[in-house]
Amino acid sequence: MNATFEPRLHRAAPDELAGRVIAITGAGDGIGRAVAVTCAAHGAEVVLLGRTVGKLEKVYDEIVAAGGVAPIIAPLDLEKATAHEYDAIAAAIGTRYGRLDGLLHNASLLGDLSPIEHYDVPLFTRVLHVNVTAAFALTQVLLAQLRASPDASVVFTSSSVGRRGRAYWGAYAVSKFAIEGLSQVLADELAGTTAVRVNAINPGATRTAMRRAAYPAEDPARLAMPADITAAYVFLLGPASKGMTGQSVDAQAPR
Ligand code: NDP
Repeated sequence: MNATFEPRLHRAAPDELAGRVIAITGAGDGIGRAVAVTCAAHGAEVVLLGRTVGKLEKVYDEIVAAGGVAPIIAPLDLEKATAHEYDAIAAAIGTRYGRLDGLLHNASLLGDLSPIEHYDVPLFTRVLHVNVTAAFALTQVLLAQLRASPDASVVFTSSSVGRRGRAYWGAYAVSKFAIEGLSQVLADELAGTTAVRVNAINPGATRTAMRRAAYPAEDPARLAMPADITAAYVFLLGPASKGMTGQSVDAQAPR
């Protein structure tokens, strides 16, 4: 790979993800939805993980209407999921495909924007659970399927506030720092002995419900649409990033 290459500028071949099975959390809305549709458009079989089944069904319909391979819908509420539910998803993927080639941890909870001094302790715990503990648990339960792939890629979703702390971003920022750490630890553990690579991605400012909640006064017309930022995701989830692990990349040019 060229040292100056930017994943966000990757131009995927039409069938770049053909034959790959890719699971995506939070696939029913925002960035997760756009990445799911894009991966399917490039030939992947996608596993749509999310908590609102109606949204997942719409993504399913969109993929099938566009001629993509029919996805699996896998309802999973990351706040409430039991060990049994995690096991059932791993078993379903194992039975149907016998492997997993890509895993995108995209779902997350914003929590409150408030000073640490006043941050609600139960909310802090919920945000850390959904954004970090659930991603860890899902990765752990799917590792056997990832190891069964000849070229698997795990991608964690970071944020600019997961690289440099910013006032009032509270549990969300802490969770994104933790995600960068989880990504690096796992990448280091799997390097050399497996074909599983692990990287993080920062989507950058993108027009979604979460962004609206964080910046209610912002003009959304200034923001990228989810469908505009998928190139780096396809790069990381597909064969183009083979050999790259332990990195954290940007889906958009820094502003
Ligand atoms: P959205 O709010 O549009 O989507 C978030 C997704 O996460 C939804 O599909 C939501 O499900 C899902 N989700 C939330 N809680 C749970 C849960 N308990 N169990 C399962 N799924 C859950 O956000 P974005 O698309 O903007 O965010 C995607 C990722 O990108 C996040 O990790 C976010 O932190 C990150 N990010 C986004 C930026 C932006 O500007 N948009 C900037 C930097 C990072 P449901 O639809 O059912 O609510």
